[in-house]
Amino acid sequence: MTVAVTLRVEEKLYQNRYLVDSGRPHIKVRPHARPSANLLGLTRVCPAQCYELNDQGQVEITADGCMECGTCRVLCEASGEIEWNYPRGGFGILFKFG
Ligand code: SF4
Repeated sequence: MTVAVTLRVEEKLYQNRYLVDSGRPHIKVRPHARPSANLLGLTRVCPAQCYELNDQGQVEITADGCMECGTCRVLCEASGEIEWNYPRGGFGILFKFG
């Protein structure tokens, strides 16, 4: 009898490792008074939950754990609301497959 083992996405993601480039975040949010709908949406769509609302209702990012999926880049880079770059070589997400 074969037993199927199922893993939750969160358990798979936990296998990844992230090397922080201290003091050099590869994504920045432009200062703003009120976030646009797209910028606000990043607090819900980022799979790594890097975006949060602060006490003033502004969107902030902590890029640690970013999976470089590009979702936020598609939604907010063209408008200038975020500045998006890949991490420097050797830093950022280290994917573990299997
Ligand atoms: S690239 Fe993807 S994982 Fe990284 S901050 Fe943007 S939405 Fe989140």
